[in-house]
Amino acid sequence: MVTRTNRIHGLSKGALVPIMAFLASCQPLPDDPSSPDSADSITFESLGFDSDSFDLASTKERQLKVFEALFMGKDGYRIPGDPDPARLRAFFSDLRESYFLKAEGIDYALIKRQYHTFTHAMDVMITTHALLRSGGGVYLSPGEQAVLVLAALGHDAVHTGVNNTFLINSKHPYFIETGADSLQEKRSIRQVMALLEKHEILVVSEGMKKALQDEIIGARNLIEQSILWTDISRHKEQMNLVTALVPQLNDSLAKARGSDGEGATKGANAADLDLAMQIHSSLPEEARVLLASFFLHVADISNPGRDWDTCERWAGLVMNEFFSQGDLEKKLGLPVSMNCDREKVLVPFAQIGFGKFVIRDLYALLSQTLHFGGNYLLNNFEINQRKWQEIEEEVKASGKPYSIRFEPPSKDGGWLGR
Ligand SMILES: [Zn+2]
Repeated sequence: MVTRTNRIHGLSKGALVPIMAFLASCQPLPDDPSSPDSADSITFESLGFDSDSFDLASTKERQLKVFEALFMGKDGYRIPGDPDPARLRAFFSDLRESYFLKAEGIDYALIKRQYHTFTHAMDVMITTHALLRSGGGVYLSPGEQAVLVLAALGHDAVHTGVNNTFLINSKHPYFIETGADSLQEKRSIRQVMALLEKHEILVVSEGMKKALQDEIIGARNLIEQSILWTDISRHKEQMNLVTALVPQLNDSLAKARGSDGEGATKGANAADLDLAMQIHSSLPEEARVLLASFFLHVADISNPGRDWDTCERWAGLVMNEFFSQGDLEKKLGLPVSMNCDREKVLVPFAQIGFGKFVIRDLYALLSQTLHFGGNYLLNNFEINQRKWQEIEEEVKASGKPYSIRFEPPSKDGGWLGR
């Protein structure tokens, strides 16, 4: 676990190991849930790329602490309209519940929903926050940053544990009702919007100032768009649009920094956050929404860019979930979806392929808009990719298949067993 060290700017992880071991022997670990001060150590500033989401999402109390640190602290995100804390807590509780629902007509004796849990939602929320704090915040208004982090928490609400292809091929009632395009993403949006409505958050009311009304309308649009863009089938389309936007972003950055851009760092850094006002107001709303959606998409598939243990753990969970879908597809006589056939798919091979065709370009593009954030994920990714290659070679040489380490999230974190 790397979390115990908050941010590790400038220090290699290798260098930290002996220091951490020494500290661990002298005092209770701050992230140990049994430690009395562990909840207090969850702050807006301490949540970052190296946070351990499995630990932070391990109990309902800790989950709420994370949410409070992000949205209710002195320096936390402010949602347009400034909803009171009681409303926000009630919204959080309902949103959390929607990750525990079972979809009609899905055989949960077979489907192992280990990946699309509330722990994943928490992980994506924390990573989105980390991307914003590493510099991404410069491109968005304060209200837009707040609702993007909220969208991250809701982006997989009411997820079924099977993918869109399964719902379409099995002619599931959700497909009949919602249609084929971004099926599950649209259902998550509907759920988030209904809960916002229920708790009167981001709701336009009469007597509200025009500027606030406009901000709320923009915020709701950002939530919808950013969740829609988490549909992996739109990955290429998004990559092309963001690539075309990069020169304009770096131009805005250079102007705000008062330089001509020559020799300057490409992509924003945490140090640029002071210039946020100047930069985000120089970008059109459409560009801001696209970029916000890009950050959420990155956060959603950021597991390959974490430390190896975290990367391998999430990879195991997602492959287990996929394989359980493959089992159900075989039972129902449906075509087995990509990466879902446990008889044919080799885990290291699938991870290497996903890295090569999706992740590497995604993180490289991120590094052009976010200098530290992008390079952090990219460096870890390259290390992990080599690890998968070593494992693949071992598997080939020994003839023994790779066995998945099964470490699901906690019950409070959304793992319902089976
Ligand atoms: Zn997701």
